[in-house]
Amino acid sequence: MSAMPQRPSPPKLAGSRVVVVGARRSGVAMARFLLSRQARVVLSDVGPPEELGPGVAALAQEGAKLELGRHETATFAGADLVAVSPGVPLSVAPIAEARRRGVRVVGEIELASWFLQGILIGITGTNGKSTTTALTAHLLSSAGLKATACGNIGLPLTDLIPRDAPDHYYVVELSSFQLEAIDTFRPWIAALLNLAPDHQDRYESPISYYHAKTRIFRNQGAADHAILNRDDPEAWGLARTLKSRVHPFSRARAVEDGACLMDDRIVVRSGGREIRAIPLAKVPLFGAHNIENVMTALLIADLCGVPLPRAERGLASFRGLPHRLEKVRELDGVAFFNDSKATNVAATTKSLESFPGKVVLILGGKDKGGDFTQLLPLVRERVAHLVLMGKARDAIAAQIGAAVPATMVVTMAEAVEAARSKAPPGGVVLLAPGCASFDQYAGFEERGEDFRRLVMALGPVA
Ligand code: ADP
Repeated sequence: MSAMPQRPSPPKLAGSRVVVVGARRSGVAMARFLLSRQARVVLSDVGPPEELGPGVAALAQEGAKLELGRHETATFAGADLVAVSPGVPLSVAPIAEARRRGVRVVGEIELASWFLQGILIGITGTNGKSTTTALTAHLLSSAGLKATACGNIGLPLTDLIPRDAPDHYYVVELSSFQLEAIDTFRPWIAALLNLAPDHQDRYESPISYYHAKTRIFRNQGAADHAILNRDDPEAWGLARTLKSRVHPFSRARAVEDGACLMDDRIVVRSGGREIRAIPLAKVPLFGAHNIENVMTALLIADLCGVPLPRAERGLASFRGLPHRLEKVRELDGVAFFNDSKATNVAATTKSLESFPGKVVLILGGKDKGGDFTQLLPLVRERVAHLVLMGKARDAIAAQIGAAVPATMVVTMAEAVEAARSKAPPGGVVLLAPGCASFDQYAGFEERGEDFRRLVMALGPVA
């Protein structure tokens, strides 16, 4: 790994005043680490103390000052560094004000990256991040490398500092929010899977959201690698602007240096030469979009020196993540799929594209301002019946409710009942809600588990 670039040396933490914003998992991880480096830590969160994650009280014992239920502007203004958790927008007043006054403001990924010697691999995109991150780490570890899936997938990078080693591969899933708060973070390999509108409740326009995602490449140089979706015009449009070496992947066309589909095989090519071909039948994941995730993971494995036959064996033992187009069961000839993680219209589109027709589609939840009319052609072609649930149901009905028969429900129990009664023989019931879950659930996992439980409880038709 001699081509690995030098990282800038980290600022001195001992004795410095650091405000950690957000007291959940990432914030607790940062506070604990900063205390271990003798920083003077204030942990600030507007949430009520009773809602905070475990470990917060212990931090107070270890010397952190807690500022709970509010942010004090003076605390922020007097800091040497403000370290922000990914759930907290940089636009909140005390953070924006501290920035204006010249206080350095960074996110958790940036902070952790200052102290890691290992090899950084970043994965971003609107959809497919977690699957690709988990698969990549699996391919690297099953080839005998030290590799950890981390970042947005649920493991703060900061938690890995104590176990750091120069030959450790950090496969970091990066959300747009995390990328907004990087500064010098420089992944050796950065992958951008796709760009589609999402989070329009937090961004002014798709462009500002795309801009955040593309920050993954900003610190890369000629010794670094970029993996880009050749079939996604927004993502591919970046190719000529990057300093790093670009490796495209495509399901639609042949590429010289990258991955593509040829005769029902995923082919990895270098300088126009085929270095490995894997039959699609050997891909253990369902849905065409997953081919793109597999291509990305294979390209990364190849760049990390994993022989592709080994990567192919690793692929065969990958089980996929729950709540991502997960088959729950078949009952009376109807297949039930849980894609609770399809929380935006683009993901729902990919989900629907995975089935030829006869789909009863469950949509709804907490609206993120998605444009459901984009689903219209696919809905007309493949959906037999729509079940619209939760807070967003009326907004969705107004956009696409007239295209095919629809049933309006409130809860998941009603949704599963309605979907089952409307499913045609040989059909599919698909939960791919296109919305966040927070109107009725703590997150997409809880929603998916509720769906799974209800589906498993269905008995044969009386
Ligand atoms: P993320 O972490 O980006 O949300 P996941 O791997 O959890 O990605 O997948 C989220 C959802 O996005 C899946 O349930 C599936 O519907 C869809 N999806 C997965 N991979 C892709 C892809 N490469 N392109 C488009 N949609 C995808």
